[in-house]
Order: sequence, then structure tokens, then C-alpha cells
Amino acid sequence: RLARDELSVFLESGIYRFQNSNFIFVDPVRVLNRSYSRFRVSPAGYYRRFFDHVKKGLDDKDCLLNARKRKRKEKKSRCLNEKELAADQRHQVAKPLLLMAHESLLQATDLLSVMGSLNREIDSSAGSRWVELPNDHQSLIEHGGVWQAPLYEITLKLPESSPSSEVAGSSFKNRVVPLFNNLVVNETLNEVEAQFLDHQYILPRESCFYMSDLRMVHNLIPATASSGFSFIVIDPPWENGSAQQKSKYPTLPNRYFLALPIKKLSHSKGALVALWVTNREKFHRFIDLELFPSWGVTHISTFYWLKVKADASLISDLDLFHHRPYECLLLGYCHGEDDIEDLKILEQTVPKDQVIISIPGDYSRKPPIGELLQEYVPGPTPGRCIELFAREMTPGWLSWGNEPLHFQESQHFTRT
Ligand code: SAM
Repeated sequence: RLARDELSVFLESGIYRFQNSNFIFVDPVRVLNRSYSRFRVSPAGYYRRFFDHVKKGLDDKDCLLNARKRKRKEKKSRCLNEKELAADQRHQVAKPLLLMAHESLLQATDLLSVMGSLNREIDSSAGSRWVELPNDHQSLIEHGGVWQAPLYEITLKLPESSPSSEVAGSSFKNRVVPLFNNLVVNETLNEVEAQFLDHQYILPRESCFYMSDLRMVHNLIPATASSGFSFIVIDPPWENGSAQQKSKYPTLPNRYFLALPIKKLSHSKGALVALWVTNREKFHRFIDLELFPSWGVTHISTFYWLKVKADASLISDLDLFHHRPYECLLLGYCHGEDDIEDLKILEQTVPKDQVIISIPGDYSRKPPIGELLQEYVPGPTPGRCIELFAREMTPGWLSWGNEPLHFQESQHFTRT
């Protein structure tokens, strides 16, 4: 396909495939907006972290100075210990690929000009529609932890017409259902507005969520393996010393993730498992030696998520030890009861050198990867998809976690 074709595909889909490589640029805002008709995720909202930088007066120069300071400190520091050496080795394997992917981005002038206009759009709407929640705002996690949690209900505003109707009717009926430990479904072909206390949420078409603590995760296990999940995306709350993370969501020690019933959630024809992980060597070792074996998952490939700013520069120096501008997405297969042969063929088709490039959103928010991986999902089409530890909802997916409605709150959207 010609580069111009790629750009028009990108403008429609939010996904840009660089020619002759396994590098992909994703604009999460464009991808997400394909799930909504009456609402829009605004770039200014999604890429808010960039404004925070601007607002705090931390411009690029300051960031660069900080990065240089950190690098000097790291250079001065003692020799690397055994784990750090292993982490560095992992980094050296990834580095040439990441540099090549970044170079491809820098050469894609058509894409760069669209990113440039995004930059201007962000600048011009900075601070406009985005409303900060008041400090006394009680989070979904807090609501889920109190004794009243089983009594909390969410009200879905459903169209009066038949659920299969393409056009949203003008009259609505309310459906009131328990908010926690309950499968809440929007089976209609349009997004649905919902209310919990004085908060409004937007649920994408044909999506559902189950909001609970990890202790309840067994309730997601299907009655039969033939109705299990063929695509399982997991973004665990890995422990991390950063104060920023502590204020965003609770984390869990590694051993808790062993309790995730991946095998029981999987479809009888097997499942593609995509696991997000940071660059800490401790986590990579745990996954290789304990987590994947206990889940019955065979590691097939590692994809990289390379984080750039709207001006296409990396968000930090590639060699900065504790602040790498990339994260890993480990792909594996959980073998089902039959059709091992089919899985083997799929295994061979998964590329070993895929880099997904995007501008990061809110703290720890991952780019939407569902569509990029659909072709590697075994079993029935469309795949049966579940996201574990989700903070948002996707059409056709079940989102589970203690706050799957987090980014569905109306403050993250504007009305079209
Ligand atoms: N993938 C998400 C995104 O792109 O926004 C980020 C997920 S974040 C790394 C991990 C999530 O796990 C957080 O929403 C956190 O609140 C949730 N979590 C932490 N402890 C949990 C528990 N015990 N049960 C269920 N969810 C939990």
C-alpha cells in the first residue's frame, strides 16, 4: 500500500502501519472514538499529562535537564548488580528494534504532520473542557470497599425501542442493577448512559463489565470451556515504589497474580494471553519462572510499546535505566483441550519484532491493542475477549477489575 493510503487508513482507524516492517503507530483517541457516536474522547483530555507538564511550567527544557541529571547520576552510580545486568541485557536486545521503529516514525512525514496538528489542537483546547474531580471525590475502588457496596446500584438509560435497532430511540427506560459483583451489560448497538450516585458514565455498544475485587474473579469462569475466552488481556497492578502510582490505584504482590484462573477462563480451543509488564527484571523472571507456567501459558513473543510525545521525540532517553520510554507486552498461548495443531500454526504467525508506538495517556493507561492482535486469536471469530484489571470498556469485551468504569466517566467525554 502507498504511504498516502496508509495515512487515510490512519485517519479513519487510528492505526498506521509502517511499510515493510512490524511497526505500528496508534492514536488511541481515534481508535476509541470509533466506539462512540454521540460522544467523543477529546485529545486534550486523553493526552492531559502533557498539559500538566505545561501547567506546572515543566517545559521540554526542564524535562531534558532532569533527564540529563538522572543520566549523570546513573553513570556515576556503582556497578550494576546481577539483576540490573540481566535487565540491561534485555534492553540491549530490544534497543536496535526500538531505534529502528523510532526512525520509521521520524521518516513518516505524512504522519508527523498529523501529529503536529494534534499538538496544536491540544494546545488550543488545553484546560477547556477537562474538569478535574473535586478532592473529596470517592473513587469506585473506595465505594467497592465499604459495607454498603452490595447495596449500590447503577441505572442504565436504555432506549425504549428494541435492543437490535440501529437508531437510538428518543424515549428511554431505566434499568437498575447492582453495581458491584454483578455482570452489567449494554447489549444494545449504541452507547448507553448510566448513573451511579451523582456520577454519569458512558457504556460503549455491546460491552459489559464486572466490578469486583480479585477475590471474586472466579465468578467470571464460564460454565463450559466452549463458552470461555479466546483472548485475555491482563495489566496487573504490579508493585512499584512510585508515590504517583500509590495515589492512583492499589498494587498487589506478585503471588496474588498466581491466583488468576487463566486456564479456567480460556476457551476449549485455546486463548491468546497478552500480559503488560514494566521493565523490572524481577517481574520478567517471575513471569518466566512462575506465572506463565502456573497459568499454563507458553510465551510466544514480546511486543514493545514505545512512548513518544506529540513532536515524535521519545518521552525519555532510551538508555535511562529506571525511566525507559517503553514497556513490554508479553504474548502467550494458553492451550485448550483440543486443536493443539491450530495453535502451533498461529504461534508461527505471531511476529517477533512488533513495536507499537503511541503518545501515552493518563498514568499507566495502555493503548488499545485489541484490534492489533485479533488475527492471532485462536478459536471462534469474533474472539471472545476479556480484559483483566481494566479501567475502561471496549465494544464486544468484558472488562473486569475494581474500577472498569474509571475512564468511562462522563468527564472523559464531550458530546458530539
Ligand atoms: N490497563 C489499565 C489502563 O490501561 O488504564 C490500567 C490497569 S492498572 C495497571 C491496574 C488496575 O488493577 C487498577 O485499576 C487497580 O485499581 C486494579 N486493582 C488493584 N488491586 C486490585 C484488586 N485487588 N482487585 C481488582 N483490581 C485491582
